[in-house]
Amino acid sequence: MEYISTRGQAPALNFEQATLNGLADDGGLYLPASWPTLSQGEIRGLQGKSYPELAYSIIRHFTYDCVPDEVLKKLVCDACAGFRHDAVAPIKQLDDQLFLMELFHGPTLAFKDYALQILGQLFQYFLSRGGCTCTIIGATSGDTGSAAIAGLKGLSSVELFMLHPHNRVSDVQRRQMTTVLADNIHNIAVDGTFDDCQNMVKSLFNDLDFKGKYALSAVNSINWARIAAQVVYYFRAAIALGAPEREISFSVPTGNFGNVLAGYAAKKMGLPIKKLIIGSNQNDILTRFFESGSMERRDVQTTLSPSMDIGISSNFERYLFELVDHDSGRLHELMQEFQEKGRFDVGRDMLNRARQDFSAYRLTDEDTRKDIRATYEATGEIIDPHSIIGVSAARKEGFREAPVVVLATAHPAKFPDAIHSALGFEPPLPDELSDILTLEERCQNLPNDIPALMKFVESRLVSEISSES
Ligand SMILES: *Cc1c(COP(=O)(O)O)cnc(C)c1O
Repeated sequence: MEYISTRGQAPALNFEQATLNGLADDGGLYLPASWPTLSQGEIRGLQGKSYPELAYSIIRHFTYDCVPDEVLKKLVCDACAGFRHDAVAPIKQLDDQLFLMELFHGPTLAFKDYALQILGQLFQYFLSRGGCTCTIIGATSGDTGSAAIAGLKGLSSVELFMLHPHNRVSDVQRRQMTTVLADNIHNIAVDGTFDDCQNMVKSLFNDLDFKGKYALSAVNSINWARIAAQVVYYFRAAIALGAPEREISFSVPTGNFGNVLAGYAAKKMGLPIKKLIIGSNQNDILTRFFESGSMERRDVQTTLSPSMDIGISSNFERYLFELVDHDSGRLHELMQEFQEKGRFDVGRDMLNRARQDFSAYRLTDEDTRKDIRATYEATGEIIDPHSIIGVSAARKEGFREAPVVVLATAHPAKFPDAIHSALGFEPPLPDELSDILTLEERCQNLPNDIPALMKFVESRLVSEISSES
């Protein structure tokens, strides 16, 4: 199976290369040249499988011949071993036709674990097979950093440098990163904002000498392997609720369009998905697009759901590529226009097609609090400020011909302040996390300065090499 770039100017790659490269050289995103499909009979054959068995059965369609069957089986089992719930992704019923799939039973209590645990295993397998190592550098405003650290800690082929803005992530979020003391994990607190962190990371990637010398790579949400891993839980929920005989809708709180894109991939693979409902916070670039057909960048606002505070939905480019029927020239024009003017329009026809797959709703902070309270009073469930946006979007969609599964993307204990402001009390921390507030932390403080970051990365990599010899 080949992976092609949305912008059409980079070489086609296999799964291994697409995973290790992340972003395409032409600035585009990789996706399968054609969608693998499962027949109704094949989907029926997935009923009753455990989560790791299901993950193997789905992901092998994407890894194709890059990972031998036995290896892939072991690798997904290892990836699932760190989850705290036997079902891995359990489903709860909220009302007659509304279900909640809890994607927060991984090591860092957010759905990003479902992709990053597997991505870590894939990196280790590909790199050690090729006798290579790489240096992963990333920036985080919270959830991505801890999930990447949990997925990559202790791997011998990877060194991970994770930047976060000093004093601008919550205590729990910081400690989930800095209390991991594995030798290959390097936490950096930057005196600056999240954007400063991201710009520092970008400068390192743009320095081609540095990038080549230290084999820089990324595990951010544009990595196709992450999307592939997320497809699994869509199959999980739909099959549990009656697919392929019955249509299912999903409601997904999303910012970067990563999670909901995995739902679209599942639909293209043959899963009977009726509608993919998108929930946005006040950073509503996606909801505005599905209202008007115009994608328009605006300044980012801080909200109660910080993991969805984005100005641009980077994974949308993959869906746009589908909308323009894989015409990479047209896609390139639209992205160019967005770069220059901060907006593009797709016109009526394309918008109507897009609306057959998706609908979208936004929630203000005020309504977020109100809906957390109302749902708690009605069901007794404490729902985190991201997941509640999915619940509310599903309710706004209204009349349901098909059951709707809301993806619950984080455990409420990760956002105690938001829950407190809605309910007047803080959610209890799960047992696994209760000692996190007393564990030893390790973190390097750095100024918002690129040469200082380079010097630090080099010093760590050199000392790793010399301590090995
Ligand atoms: C990252 C994150 C999201 C948004 O994910 P997308 O990739 O933008 O779909 C939603 N909720 C939580 C808790 C997250 O950590």
